[in-house]
This record gives sequence, C-alpha cells and structure tokens, in this order.
Amino acid sequence: MDFDDTPEEAAFRAKARAWLEENAPLPGSPEAWAGIEGSPSDDGEFAVFLDRCREWQRTLKSSGWACLTWPVEFGGQGLTPAESLIWNQEVANFGVTLGPLIPSLGFVGPTIIAHGTGEQKARHIPPIVSGDAIWCQLFSEPGAGSDLANLATRAVPDGDSWVVSGQKVWNSFAHVADWGILIARTDPERPKHRGITYFLVDMRSPGVTVRPIRQISGAAKFNEVFLDEVRIPAGNVVGEANEGWKVVHTTLRYERSTISGIRDRRLTERLAETAGRRGSAGDPNVRQEIARTYVREQLVRYLTLRLQSAIRRGVAPGPEASVLKLAVGEHLMASAQAGLAISGPGSVAGGDAPVGGDDWKDLLLWQYEVRFGGGTEEIQRNTIGEVVLGLPAEPRVDKDLPYSQVRTI
Ligand SMILES: Cc1cc2nc3c(=O)[nH]c(=O)nc-3n(C[C@H](O)[C@H](O)[C@H](O)COP(=O)(O)OP(=O)(O)OC[C@H]3O[C@@H](n4cnc5c(N)ncnc54)[C@H](O)[C@@H]3O)c2cc1C
Repeated sequence: MDFDDTPEEAAFRAKARAWLEENAPLPGSPEAWAGIEGSPSDDGEFAVFLDRCREWQRTLKSSGWACLTWPVEFGGQGLTPAESLIWNQEVANFGVTLGPLIPSLGFVGPTIIAHGTGEQKARHIPPIVSGDAIWCQLFSEPGAGSDLANLATRAVPDGDSWVVSGQKVWNSFAHVADWGILIARTDPERPKHRGITYFLVDMRSPGVTVRPIRQISGAAKFNEVFLDEVRIPAGNVVGEANEGWKVVHTTLRYERSTISGIRDRRLTERLAETAGRRGSAGDPNVRQEIARTYVREQLVRYLTLRLQSAIRRGVAPGPEASVLKLAVGEHLMASAQAGLAISGPGSVAGGDAPVGGDDWKDLLLWQYEVRFGGGTEEIQRNTIGEVVLGLPAEPRVDKDLPYSQVRTI
C-alpha cells in the first residue's frame, strides 16, 4: 500500500493548501464558524451561521473549488475521488464548514445527478451548487432507523400526483429546508425493501409540518416532520415507482462518505494548547492523555490513508469505511473527555461561552452525531463482523415477507 501522494496529488494538495491559507480562517479564530455547528441555539445565531456557510459555498464556486467530483456540466470540477479526499483532508485544518448545505452538496445533488430526470437535474442542481437551495433528508421514522426499509409513511397515487401521509424524525435542517428527499411505501404487498418510492418534496407544500427537536447542546438542528395528505406531483418521483430502494442505496453511499470525511481536527495540538493554558503541561497524567490522543490521531490518519489508497486504485470503499467511522467516533469521544478533564470543572460550568477558548464541552455533545449519523456504531460492527470476519449474518426473518404481513410497532 502506497501512503505517499503521487507527484500530481502532492501538487494538488499544495495548491489546495495555499488557496485555503489565503481564503479560510483557522479553527478557533474569531472568523471561524466550524466547530460552532453544535451550538447555534437560537434562530438569530443560526441565521448568521447559515449565512456564513452560504457565503463559503459562493466563494468555493467562484474560485473553482465547489463540487469537486461532480461533472463540469453540472457545475462541478470533474476531479477524481482521490483529489476530493485530499481537499477534505486539507479543509479539515480550517475553521470552515458547509453546515446546512452538507445534505444537498454531499448526497442530494449526487443522487439527482445519478438517478434524476433531465428536468429534475435542470431545476434542482443549479440552486444546490450556488448554495441557494437547502435540502433535508426525510428517511428515518419512529419505527424505521437502522432498519430503514421498515418505514410506514404511505404514498397513494391520485391522478398525476401522489398523496403522502406519515411521520419522519431526526431530519437535520428540515426547519430551514426548501426541499426534501422523501421515501414512502407505495406497495405494502411487496417485501419491505421493494414497494418503496423515492420523491422530491417541496417543504412548503400544504400538509407539511416541521417541529424542531431541542438537543442537549441547546441547538435545534433536528426535527420531526409530519406529512398530512401532502400532494407530490408524479414528476417528482426519482427513478421508478416502487424501485426507490436502489436510489436510497446511492444516497446512503454518498452520505457515508460525507460523514467519514470528518477528520481529526488537530485534537492533539488543541489538547496541548489547553494544557499549556491551564498550566498542566508538565503533569505526567496530562502528558499521558495527550500521548494517547496522538496515537489515536495517527490511527485515524493511517485508516484514512488506507481508504485513500483504495479510492486511488478505483476500488469502492468497503468495510474499511466502517472501521474508519468507528475509529473517528472513538477518537472524538476520548479526546473530548480528555479535554474536559484537562480544562477542569469550569469547562462544563461555563454556560454558552467556551471557557478560555476551549470548546471541549461542545465537542463532547457533538461527537454523538458522528457516532449515530450514517449508521450507528453497532451497525458498523455488524458490517465488520459479516464482511471482514465472516461471522453469520444477522437473522432477517422478514426479508421476503410482504410488508403488510410484517409486525411493526
Ligand atoms: C447527526 C445525525 C443526523 C441525522 N440526520 C438525519 C436526517 O437528516 N434524516 C433522517 O432521515 N435521519 C437522520 N438521522 C437519523 C439516523 O439515520 C438514525 O438515528 C439512525 O439510522 C439510527 O436509527 P434510530 O435512531 O431509529 O435508532 P435504532 O435503529 O432504533 O437503534 C437503536 C439502538 O439499537 C441499535 N441497533 C439497531 N439495530 C441493530 C442491530 N441489527 N444490531 C445491533 N444493534 C442494533 C442501534 O445501534 C442503536 O444503538 C440522523 C441521525 C444523526 C445522529
């Protein structure tokens, strides 16, 4: 396995780094807005955060750094997945994020490009690339999360539309979204993975109610979405009716790679800074913690390189993405705990403001998002057990039954 950049990749990395140094703030600087994504806790604060994300997308677009792997005809740069990975590694060293634009740019746009009609692409791709349209994902339901195909939201054809009723949950940014990708059951007499249709829904349609869920951090980025006889034009079906599961696969694949793009965020360096500020850099226990963090950081780095090596060889990421996701989750959690321990009680009692520039409390609360989103850690372990270790597959007794005969809550 070759961990080194090829000469072309090294040149690309240097170009990306130079541009970022010129145009992006460092993490923790007053101009940075990444790292506060766990915190915007009122509408005004969130609106400012959203504006900064949009402005960043406009800057990327006007400078030729937007949508790196998308085809040029759709506003992308036509670059390779390996170049995109290098960009993600470099951009993680800066205090920037695309926040609420991540669903549209990370997995909605690529899904529409892969499966959408000409009309859907022409209508939806330009406002996604410009950062004007915000999208949300309406997949999870109270009875369908890890077992997503268990979904109960129904869509019934009526003339040249579908009428949709049901409830979705954990829908990130639905409260500010213009559009949503929605999956609903359209044929309950087929097995649960079949008979599902994939729709594009205008979030301002009559019958859509969005109710924010307040999180432990004070932020309200998640929502419940209620659909009460919402009418969706037939032209908003993506792919074939009842064949939406194939389209879901594309979305989830892109979503997973968006999430595993979350990098180490220079946590060793930041822990050392915290220890320096707190006067505990000479404490042997603190030094041990920092050393452990460094080891985990290297582990994440090498797992990322392994993924990069696979991508470079044109191999689609397999279970190594699950291993990386577990390692990143563990690293974020352990580092946040170490940061809090080194900062002392003030860091948890500090209210909304980070104490002395340390944001370990926010990291601790935020890391759960990474560990659940895109498939929980247990589901990643199932994948590793089955695909890497060859353990018996999970029993899936309802796989071939018609959905109407499956016991649901
Ligand atoms: C940051 C974040 C953003 C999200 N954004 C969205 C969004 O925008 N749109 C959307 O639709 N959804 C979103 N979700 C929801 C997410 O997809 C679900 O939380 C996830 O699929 C888990 O489903 P669940 O919460 O229903 O938990 P469940 O599936 O009910 O799982 C509960 C627990 O049981 C464990 N478990 C379940 N099945 C198994 C099994 N077979 N073997 C072992 N353990 C198992 C799980 O690991 C978990 O610990 C988001 C979640 C997070 C954390």
